Amino acid sequence: MLEKIEHIGIAVKDLENAEWIYAKLLNTSSYKREEVASEYVITSFFQSGPNKIELLVATDEKSAIHKFIEKKGEGIHHIAFAVDDIVSEMQRLKEEGFTLLNEQPKKGADNKLVCFVHPKGTNGVLIELCQEIKVEE
Ligand code: ZN
Repeated sequence: MLEKIEHIGIAVKDLENAEWIYAKLLNTSSYKREEVASEYVITSFFQSGPNKIELLVATDEKSAIHKFIEKKGEGIHHIAFAVDDIVSEMQRLKEEGFTLLNEQPKKGADNKLVCFVHPKGTNGVLIELCQEIKVEE
């Protein structure tokens, strides 16, 4: 099932500047920057109480973040829900008629397996499912 909101993703044009703004807003600095080369983005995470904010900046014009900003400008890009079993949740959503943007879960930022649900079926909001990757020792 879809558990708590894991984070909210915000598309930005200038990561340095956005980090400066969100550091002031949340009164804490970014705890992690991570590049997801396959998606042509750099992410920066903030923790504020139980809430997480992910800033996303494009590193290439091929990036979905670049296209999003071209079309809509900066702003909320996606809402991510934590799931305990991403594969079964993807199956359930597919059966419910949602369009998944990837067939298989893929490796996202912050040690997560992720899958995106197309915003055309969710009233214009891009939804991300994310499952923590458990490291087996
Ligand atoms: Zn995200």
